[in-house]
Amino acid sequence: MQITIALTKGRILEETLPLLAQADIEPIEDIKTSRKLVFDTSREGVRLLVLRGSDVPTYVQFGAADLGVSGKDTLLEHGGDGLYEPLDLGIARCRMMTAAVAGVPPAHGRIRVATKYVNIARRFYAEQGRQADIIKLYGAMELAPIMALADEIVDIVDTGNTLRANGLEARETIAEISSRLIVNKAAMKVKHRQLQGIIDSLRQAVAG
Ligand code: AMP
Repeated sequence: MQITIALTKGRILEETLPLLAQADIEPIEDIKTSRKLVFDTSREGVRLLVLRGSDVPTYVQFGAADLGVSGKDTLLEHGGDGLYEPLDLGIARCRMMTAAVAGVPPAHGRIRVATKYVNIARRFYAEQGRQADIIKLYGAMELAPIMALADEIVDIVDTGNTLRANGLEARETIAEISSRLIVNKAAMKVKHRQLQGIIDSLRQAVAG
């Protein structure tokens, strides 16, 4: 049976390939430079898809891919319907945080929050009992507080350099983020032996 693994392009891909190689799954072409989207691998019957991160859970949810590698940020935003998440790969670590203009005290009452992660933000402020109007942006979130589009942003923070460079500071941590292996629930039943084999090899690769 064919096994399809959906990967997230960019920095997560770079950190995923060594783990896959340790599980004897290596693309037979240069996956980082090729413009192709589907790659055969050194392992018979296993192929790789290279997708935009936010599309990986969708491919796995609907069974178009059996396995996927996805950032926890993307999974929290997606909701995780139809997916198992058996393994934390421990790569691409960062934090989901709130941030605001440095030195400005927290706003009271109803605030405006700009983010790409509207579901995560909505849930977080609701849990805190804070009233927040969430504004969806597709990039350059750091600009929103500076231009007074929003009081706060919700974004990924790694070194904090991007925030600092734009006069912002991190405030609260919403979640610790790393990349996770995800599995289509139905495929886990139908292709159990093969998928369990790959999950076990990846678990060993992570532990090693
Ligand atoms: P930094 O300046 O190191 O805090 O990185 C901030 C930006 O890099 C974020 O706004 C993200 O767009 C991106 N970034 C950093 N780490 C990750 C990660 N593990 N996954 C996805 N995006 C990341």
